Amino acid sequence: MERISLHDERRLLEQEKIDLNEEKMSLDHQSKLYDDCERGLQNEKKVLQVRYEQLLSETNSLRQEIEKKNAEFQKITNQLLQSTEEMQLLRSQLLLYEEDFQHEKKLAEALLEEKNKLNTELLKQIEFNKQLQESGSSGKLKQTSQHQNEPSAICPKCEMAFQNLSDLMTHVDRCLDS
Ligand SMILES: [Zn+2]
Repeated sequence: MERISLHDERRLLEQEKIDLNEEKMSLDHQSKLYDDCERGLQNEKKVLQVRYEQLLSETNSLRQEIEKKNAEFQKITNQLLQSTEEMQLLRSQLLLYEEDFQHEKKLAEALLEEKNKLNTELLKQIEFNKQLQESGSSGKLKQTSQHQNEPSAICPKCEMAFQNLSDLMTHVDRCLDS
């Protein structure tokens, strides 16, 4: 009885040993699976880390780009503002020039009118001088001439006196144009 029991016990122990071995193998196998899984996750983590760094670097470069664009935009805005001011300044200067031009034009017109008036007067004077010469030393005309204070040939513009008509004519042509 005792012997059988001992034998049985030994058999049980053998069986238990086999079971434990199987369990150990199973655990080893599981452990290896976990190791593989952990290694896989580590690799994935490394890949994600690299991707993260890459994205971070891209984000930084994009941020720098935005700052650069902002600075350029600011610069262009300032230039536009300056151009607008310059344009306004030029426009007001142009108005001034326009006024000056109109003024000069009026002045030139007035001078032309004055010249025409002087020309007419000169013609009158020449006519008068001719009459004087034609009537020689006729007392009456000479009297009138002296009375009107218009002796010989005088430039109606600058009042320079000349000995004869041709000298006066030569002078007047230049004097009126000056
Ligand atoms: Zn003159």
